[in-house]
Amino acid sequence: MIKGEEVIAILEKIGDKIMEEKDYLTELDRPIGDNDHGINMARGFAEVKKKLPSMEGQDLGTIFKTVGMTLVSAVGGSSGPLYGTAFMKMGMSLAAKREMSFPEFLDAFKAGVEGVGQRGRSAAEEKTMLDAMIPALKAMEAAYGRTPDAGKALKEGAAAALAGAKHTKELIATKGRASYLGERGIGHQDPGATSFTYMIQTAAGHFQTRCEPEVKA
Ligand code: ADP
Ligand code: MG
Repeated sequence: MIKGEEVIAILEKIGDKIMEEKDYLTELDRPIGDNDHGINMARGFAEVKKKLPSMEGQDLGTIFKTVGMTLVSAVGGSSGPLYGTAFMKMGMSLAAKREMSFPEFLDAFKAGVEGVGQRGRSAAEEKTMLDAMIPALKAMEAAYGRTPDAGKALKEGAAAALAGAKHTKELIATKGRASYLGERGIGHQDPGATSFTYMIQTAAGHFQTRCEPEVKA
């Protein structure tokens, strides 16, 4: 089972990773956007990190909802409401739970991904964060179905997210700022798909070093 304190620890690491990759994420947003994705994400996660201590002892629903609301209010760009929606939907799915099984996490993540699609009126293959999120979801569901090991599933999810982010180079954007460029966006990797890849890589990395006996539950 995954408890709130562990989610908080992962969020802390995600915040650090986003700050580390701030310049690269911004650079990706230059040719096909407005040169601010890393700045937006770093601002959002700086606020999230400030709020983490106040989340200690809260249930998972509250933790995820607080993260989502913080991203919505702190981030100016479209990634704020989109990631914000993802975390808030996860929070709704996990309402009042103090711990979650990996299948419960997957259900919540699925709700989060669907939330992004609804909010952004977007779907797969439109050169957005969904092109990393959807493959990650599918890969984790398939991996956990084969072997119920959360660490392995996250690792496969992270690999699928990375492959999905790289695949965005081949796509023509039909949503977001990159859609203004049409075919000229080909060859450029989507910033949002890349920031999501960092999030899931961080979560997978955390599980790699996790030493709880119930890791295979
Ligand atoms: P903005 O585009 O407002 O400057 P950011 O640069 O922070 O915001 O985020 C851009 C990222 O948001 C894109 O790389 C893409 O992944 C994601 N994005 C933009 N529009 C959509 C949408 N409609 N659906 C899903 N993701 C989107
Ligand atoms: Mg931008």
